[in-house]
Amino acid sequence: MTTSAPVSSGTVVPAVFPSGTILGYPRIGRRRELKKAVEAFWAGTISADELEATGAELRATTRERLAGLGLGRTDSAIPESFSFYDQVLDTAVTVGAVPTRFAHLVQADGTLDLAGYFTLARGEGSSLPLEMTKWFDSNYHYLVPEIGPETVFSLASDRIVRTFEEAKTAGFLTRPVIVGPVTFLLLSKASDDAPAGFSPLSRLDDLLPVYATLLERLAAAGAEWIQIDEPALVSESIDTPRTETLGATRWTYETLGRLSRRPAIFVAAPYGSLDDALPVLAAAPIEAVGLDLVRGTAPDDAPGLVADLADKTLVAGVIDGHNIWRGDLAAAVGRAENLRALTPNVTISTSTSLLHVPHSVADESKLGGDLKSWLAFADEKVAQVAVLARGLQEGRDAVADELAAASVALASRAEAPGVRNSAVRARTEALTAADFSRGPYDVRLAAQQAALDLPLLPTTTIGSFPQTGEIRRARAQTLRGTLLPDEYRQLMRAEIARVVALQEEIGLDVLVHGEPERNDMVQYFAENLDGFAVTENGWVQSYGSRCTRPSILWGDVSRPAPITVDWSTYTQSLTAKPVKGMLTGPVTILAWSFVRDDQPLGDTARQVALALRDEIGDLEAAGIGIVQVDEPALRELLPLKRAQQADYLDWSVGSFRLATAGVTDATQIHTHLCYSEFGVVLDAIRNLDADVTSIEAARSRMDVVHDIQSQGFDHGIGPGVYDIHSPRVPSVDELVGLLETALESVPTRQVWVNPDCGLKTRGYAETVESLTNMQEATRIVRARL
Ligand code: GLN
Ligand code: ZN
Repeated sequence: MTTSAPVSSGTVVPAVFPSGTILGYPRIGRRRELKKAVEAFWAGTISADELEATGAELRATTRERLAGLGLGRTDSAIPESFSFYDQVLDTAVTVGAVPTRFAHLVQADGTLDLAGYFTLARGEGSSLPLEMTKWFDSNYHYLVPEIGPETVFSLASDRIVRTFEEAKTAGFLTRPVIVGPVTFLLLSKASDDAPAGFSPLSRLDDLLPVYATLLERLAAAGAEWIQIDEPALVSESIDTPRTETLGATRWTYETLGRLSRRPAIFVAAPYGSLDDALPVLAAAPIEAVGLDLVRGTAPDDAPGLVADLADKTLVAGVIDGHNIWRGDLAAAVGRAENLRALTPNVTISTSTSLLHVPHSVADESKLGGDLKSWLAFADEKVAQVAVLARGLQEGRDAVADELAAASVALASRAEAPGVRNSAVRARTEALTAADFSRGPYDVRLAAQQAALDLPLLPTTTIGSFPQTGEIRRARAQTLRGTLLPDEYRQLMRAEIARVVALQEEIGLDVLVHGEPERNDMVQYFAENLDGFAVTENGWVQSYGSRCTRPSILWGDVSRPAPITVDWSTYTQSLTAKPVKGMLTGPVTILAWSFVRDDQPLGDTARQVALALRDEIGDLEAAGIGIVQVDEPALRELLPLKRAQQADYLDWSVGSFRLATAGVTDATQIHTHLCYSEFGVVLDAIRNLDADVTSIEAARSRMDVVHDIQSQGFDHGIGPGVYDIHSPRVPSVDELVGLLETALESVPTRQVWVNPDCGLKTRGYAETVESLTNMQEATRIVRARL
């Protein structure tokens, strides 16, 4: 069958949407080729031309691969989703939105060269880079554009057109992809020179002509479709009033849709359901709308809405782009069939870009065969799209074997040993309210003061100390087998002893072991808990050239043996000062792993929490009086839809409490959160009921402390007094000033003094100086009390 849909008059191309597509593909490269090339360019070891050549080669390989996996070569099925750094930065550069502090980088012809492009992302001298923040509810970070009343929009880069032409020369008719105008402006922040209350969205009318020019240029180059990503339409976590967002959407697609010369427009809305934005897009003169049918609720139950899409193609995002399971293909095809009963033109797609998953399961040689058969990374998902597209067009029988094979894998997964562990389940089922609470805070505080005898304004760090090249080399050698486990252990112990001596010399009050033995704060625990698997090549872009390798949480979680107890007790044996044990919290472990999709996340969180609870119990029994449970991802997993937030906060806070509530009053529980804009999670943070919470605060000059205090927070709080994300050493004066600011709004007995995050990415030179200044500033402020 065909899926043609009428296009507004004047458009020169036939609008037949491909029967199967994906919203985007990983761009980092199967062997992280892009990361290596970009970093080599930064280091000056390859030229801009060489980097361009690597980019072109990666794009070429990707097109060939996608075609090989079943996407059409010449029907716009292959998206051009490559980026050297970030798709939002690309859009900013395309429309000429370069902040004034970087204006000198713009060349005479109005463009930025590659070096200039990266400078926006990485900063230069005293010019700070664009801010970075999380992309919807994923662990991908984008760069935040800065828009002011004076931003001059123009089509400053034709890279999108050139990339399309590059593909055409190679025999492909591909689909350019760009972040949509509404999402672009909603994700931007007002530039520093903008007047108070300025909203970037107010510049929509000035921005749209640039998109119009781009669409005309693409049409002239022969593009038949363009994908315009508008994920901001699904989010309820955006400050702009919804009516304004919907109005801007209506206006944008009226305007772009009415252009006389343009490619057919496909608006994609990943990460959730469109809700009241769906009728707006349905009424717009565009040709296709992409729905996330994995995260979003299906509009199957809203036949009227779907029927409104009759003159368009409904691009059904039924393959999960955000997780790594092979999933239920028969059910997915069923969803697409149901939709087709309501509207004639339905095609198959992933729910989101495949940016969030690794390249290929074929690159994993160490995963067990069973587990491997349950998985689908990017390439396998592309193949699934092709199967479903055929199933929808030719009927299920045409793909009966593939559907059956997926069902067999699913059934084997449900029954595999370890997926359900009856001991773990019996334990979670027996939990009662008492397991989630500690005694009254004032009683705990008194017991802790008696046990720990800390001075006012106790000083500490967030946990990690610099991970030197030596430490990383030792880990790599142990993996290769050239260093014996016992030799590794001795090296790490020596490192811990150095870190303890250093902290004592500086005079810190609560010491840490420095986390040298951890490759990553989540993977380390995943490697030591049952129910997790780790990959060899499962890299996923986190931001720019940075990648993470999320673990796979596939079964019921339990702790076969203590994990951190030896390291912590060894550390405590070296000092008379209290040593803080260091764990990663249940929510963060889930957020930074690929999680199972066969039970509610809250159930999985409780299992992880119980494993951590056992670990904390063992630490306490071994004489560790302070335990920190980091939850930097608490806010990241917050659902985009308000209606789902209460439930999330309930189980996430519950799992932290379950992990930490088993200790006696005298044991002090700390937590650490990596951000300062608490917003809707402020209450949740109070409900964690940690004795001490450390947060980021230096960048906002302690504003956050005031906000928190005005809400009646009465537990310990450690507002980070300096920003560890830069090598800059804060002066004693500056630190004294910040501490005094904090003390203006918070009673002295509550305040702790610490940097704003772990030190693992820093060098020793600046770390020693900064911590020394922090200790000296504390001494000065204490003397004035
Ligand atoms: N304890 C961890 C560290 O110090 C916390 C890191 C984080 O919050 N991201 O590295
Ligand atoms: Zn942090």
